[in-house]
Amino acid sequence: MITANRLTNEQYAENFSEIQQPFETKDAALTEANRCLFCYDAPCTKACPTSIDVPKFIKQIATENLKGSAHTIFVSNIMGAGCSKVCPVEKLCEGSCVYNLMEETPINIARLQRYSTEAAIKNNWQLFERKKATGKKVAIVGAGPAGLSCAHSLAREGVDVTIYEKEAKGGGLMTYGIAAYKVTPKFCEDEVNYILGIGGITIKYQQSLGKDFSIEDLQKNYDAVYLAFGVGLARQLSIAGEDLIGVEDAISFIYHLRTNPYSSTPVGEKVAVIGMGMTAIDAATQAKRLGAKEVTLLYRRTQEEMPCTEHELSIAKLDGCKIIWLASPKEILGNNGKVTHIVCDVMQLGNADASGRRSPKPTGETFTLEVDMIIKAAGQMPFQSLVTNNHLDNKDGKINVTNNTTTNIKGVFAGGDCVNGGKEVVDASQAGKDGAKAILNFLFYAKPQSE
Ligand code: SF4
Repeated sequence: MITANRLTNEQYAENFSEIQQPFETKDAALTEANRCLFCYDAPCTKACPTSIDVPKFIKQIATENLKGSAHTIFVSNIMGAGCSKVCPVEKLCEGSCVYNLMEETPINIARLQRYSTEAAIKNNWQLFERKKATGKKVAIVGAGPAGLSCAHSLAREGVDVTIYEKEAKGGGLMTYGIAAYKVTPKFCEDEVNYILGIGGITIKYQQSLGKDFSIEDLQKNYDAVYLAFGVGLARQLSIAGEDLIGVEDAISFIYHLRTNPYSSTPVGEKVAVIGMGMTAIDAATQAKRLGAKEVTLLYRRTQEEMPCTEHELSIAKLDGCKIIWLASPKEILGNNGKVTHIVCDVMQLGNADASGRRSPKPTGETFTLEVDMIIKAAGQMPFQSLVTNNHLDNKDGKINVTNNTTTNIKGVFAGGDCVNGGKEVVDASQAGKDGAKAILNFLFYAKPQSE
């Protein structure tokens, strides 16, 4: 049966302390910075969705110009501190570092990025001057990475920004949807406060689109609107037994854990987690760190196709989570309304589909696991009814935009997960920049159109 309060407060504190450690000394950071070859045509920069000038910021660290390096990072990505902790760098900058070609360890770009951005946040170095007020006002829906990035870019240009956020804190996915041992609650709060430090940005908390205000309300009071409300509905498995007590979705599980004391988050003794993306790994490892005895990740494909990185997989393995590849949930069994077992199809991979991924098919064999908790992490869905009710063109709930930014409603722009269906924090940060650019163009340069 699922219970909370399994561990002592000291154990919870230890299990949820940050796992990625900074450089221990300045010398260690300088030594790593000096390994960089400062490539002319830097592949690490090309691999970054926000195009951070990696060799430049590393050179600035090497020459002890820490403020300059933080500026180089933030000018491309104001969420650069958070991204240094949560980016899948193996697939991005570090995975593209030329050292990989020489079969040597790539430059630890993330840790160097953390080195300078954390110094900037700790010392509150405000590295951008806000331009004179333009008198223009923009409303943003959502204080997650896309909303904050858009707000900062607009505030720099002298636009007054009001963000409407449905939660009690800013940061979005960073604050509510990622493992606490990757980004601590204190770090998330500090990062949001640092971004707001530029001035000209107000956040109205606990304000939900569709409940407390409409897009029409915002259009009446602001010169433009940017929608960055993300995704958040868990994809259902659509199998028997899904409504039994003990079956939960990963988003709710992580949200509860991030908004309550660890001791009050219920967790089972034997937990199965469905999925192999970052959210699945975060749910599995945190279930283990909350005191679950056995955690098993179930994935219908193989390690080759898994969406998480090898680094994330290694965290799960080090935490003692088991992984069963080629397993797809078929049915959930229970007793007295509570989950007791999960039955899975044993899968095999068929031919590659249009996206190049091989499709899994049942072999006809099944196996059964005894569990008292199941966490579903099989993907997230857009807020379809919210989007449709607000007359936004969309495809299955994902807002349709032109030029990456512009919705079908005049003066209303959108970006981040509510457009792309859910990508990385760094993608949302770039989307916010793109949105701000389009809004500035709309406010100051667009020719009036005849209605
Ligand atoms: Fe430095 Fe590696 Fe980027 Fe080259 S690819 S600039 S060595 S971090």
